[in-house]
Amino acid sequence: MMKTISIIVPCYNEHETINIYYDEVTKYLDSNYKWNIIFVDDGSKDNTLSIIKELNKKDERIKYVSFSRNFGKEAAMYAGLENAKKLNSDMAIIMDVDLQDPPRLIPELLKSYDEGYHIIYTRQKNRHGSSLKSAFFSLTFYRVYSFFTKDKVVAKGARDYCLLDKKAIDAFLSVKDYKRFTKGIYNYVGFKNKCIEFDYEKRVAGETKWNFKKLFRYALIGINEFSSLYTYIPKFFGFLTFLLLIYDVIRQTINAVNASSFSAFNFSPIRFDLALIAIFFTLYYLFKLCYELRGQTRNRPIYIEEETNIDEAD
Ligand code: UDP
Ligand code: MG
Repeated sequence: MMKTISIIVPCYNEHETINIYYDEVTKYLDSNYKWNIIFVDDGSKDNTLSIIKELNKKDERIKYVSFSRNFGKEAAMYAGLENAKKLNSDMAIIMDVDLQDPPRLIPELLKSYDEGYHIIYTRQKNRHGSSLKSAFFSLTFYRVYSFFTKDKVVAKGARDYCLLDKKAIDAFLSVKDYKRFTKGIYNYVGFKNKCIEFDYEKRVAGETKWNFKKLFRYALIGINEFSSLYTYIPKFFGFLTFLLLIYDVIRQTINAVNASSFSAFNFSPIRFDLALIAIFFTLYYLFKLCYELRGQTRNRPIYIEEETNIDEAD
């Protein structure tokens, strides 16, 4: 029987790229499969949704889900997977709309699927053409991430561009993290996986939707979701205090020997300030953790749908 593949494409204010993407991706849709292209409109403020609807008029493989507001790319990918499941897909391919995830890799992704891999993810071999600043920060992020999480997949510089088979789609959906980090989920769920490499591609049109602050926050979420990052804070201050204690003992011993009389311990004001900083810093992260726990236990939805042309019967 013919296999169904859903391509999931998160879009946020992408009116400049959707048509270019459509023309490119449709070159690779092998007619031996049944295809859906699920555009997830992540609360765009431009005419992204109307462009998608226009495409749907000439090509019924075009599906869409539109959010009530911007929920972020992670939420869009999650919604895409849920809808891929609704459409009884045998596999899902997640990719960006700006052609930074080249559609020419689709045949290779399918080949690896036929070889029995459950998850086929991708990474950029090099960063020729990207800015030095972004190359530096992403490299630093991958180093720090792998230090804290011991994750080898993300450490290699994995992108969100991937193919997931049916089992992997279910596994990804079963991870209901409130603050999601898809790249970390590859490693978490396991399965036989494979990495495909490609050269860096520039965004075809429009602007990146990320700024440094947003990326930094996202990086922290990623590290925090798959490690026990906050525990390093008291650990660090504890270790520092321990070193100070050793220093004090040595200093006092030397003093005692030299002065031949025991002088009273002098607690420096700087030491006192340091202790306060440690306490407040640790408290801040304790509160943060409480809020994160609250976020997860409230069980709020990952996204809210406003409009779609996908229904259960499809
Ligand atoms: N995107 C999204 N929601 C957001 C931000 C981005 O759905 O809040 C989509 C965006 O439309 C694109 C993909 O995520 O298809 C990657 O975004 P972008 O190209 O801006 O990121 P970069 O490639 O610079 O990391
Ligand atoms: Mg991009």
